[in-house]
Amino acid sequence: MSDNGKPKFGMYWASSCGGCEIAVLNIGDKILDVDAVFDIALWPVAADFKYEDVRNYPDGYIDVCLFNGAIRNSENEEMAHLLRQKSKVLVAFGSCAYEGCIPALSNFTSKADTYRTVYLDNPSIDNPGGVLPQPVNRVAEGELTIPEFYHTVKSLDQVVNVDYFIPGCPPEPHQIWAVLQAVVAALTEGAELPPAGSIIGAGNVALCEECPLAKGEKLIDRFYRPYEIVPEPGKCLLEQGLVCLGPATRSGCGALCPQVGIGCRGCYGPLDGVEDQGAKMLTAIASIINAGKVGDNGQWLDERLDEIMDTIADPAGTFYRFSMAHSILRRARVNGAKNGGAQ
Ligand code: SF4
Ligand code: SF4
Repeated sequence: MSDNGKPKFGMYWASSCGGCEIAVLNIGDKILDVDAVFDIALWPVAADFKYEDVRNYPDGYIDVCLFNGAIRNSENEEMAHLLRQKSKVLVAFGSCAYEGCIPALSNFTSKADTYRTVYLDNPSIDNPGGVLPQPVNRVAEGELTIPEFYHTVKSLDQVVNVDYFIPGCPPEPHQIWAVLQAVVAALTEGAELPPAGSIIGAGNVALCEECPLAKGEKLIDRFYRPYEIVPEPGKCLLEQGLVCLGPATRSGCGALCPQVGIGCRGCYGPLDGVEDQGAKMLTAIASIINAGKVGDNGQWLDERLDEIMDTIADPAGTFYRFSMAHSILRRARVNGAKNGGAQ
């Protein structure tokens, strides 16, 4: 292990799509500044490192480690513990590490049903023997192991202590650069970092406040899926019946999606003090649907309410698309058991 005296940078990819890795490269030619300031100690997508290299580092050797991806299997969890031990500052980078994101949507079902969908009922797979992944396989040459697939997807802070959280799916490059600059200033000039546990690289008002679309009175008679309606330009999408999680989502991305006619999906997560982004959005929805008024017949109100809510396709996936692992729900009860297994 050679040491050129530069601060050490690590980046690791657990259960995620890889978009967070691309987002770092999207800071453009500033990536050269990252290379000038840091020595890369781990970044498997960009350079050849082995886990053994990391195990051989002294504890706290990596100055800042951006960990992206959720904890889906035993390998993800093992690396989370290893990188916690080897890093001075461990950052949950992006929505999967921060709050579970798309992988955690499988917390609505069980490990067995996930396997059935992926390996048995999948029309693009040919598996007549119904073979499922096994953590340990004995072959003539010895024992082959693969990581154990967990029943429940977790966020990074549900398995180790995390110093900072950077939200986004993926985080926006200008936010990433701002965070890296802050870390560099702390390492080279002794500048203060935010208090441990902070969410960094994002705003702390609702996305609606940075959204330039015109807001008026919201009263919704039905909801539309994006392909069902051409929204009026310049006008709030939620008012036009397109589900937009702006009221329940942290600012910071610049309201990218609403500005191109797509409702915010909520990837920057909840605001400070909001424990459950999905519940927060349901509250917002409840306050704007045109289900009747005081004095209307109760049964009629119920029916009208159901009718309007039924126009939201996949409410669970819509309201908890990014935040399921970190929500109050955390996972659905499956076959009567909340966690349904050891993991
Ligand atoms: Fe808020 Fe979405 Fe309306 Fe913009 S379009 S103001 S983010 S609800
Ligand atoms: Fe994420 Fe919403 Fe911003 Fe789109 S508008 S990038 S979903 S926070």
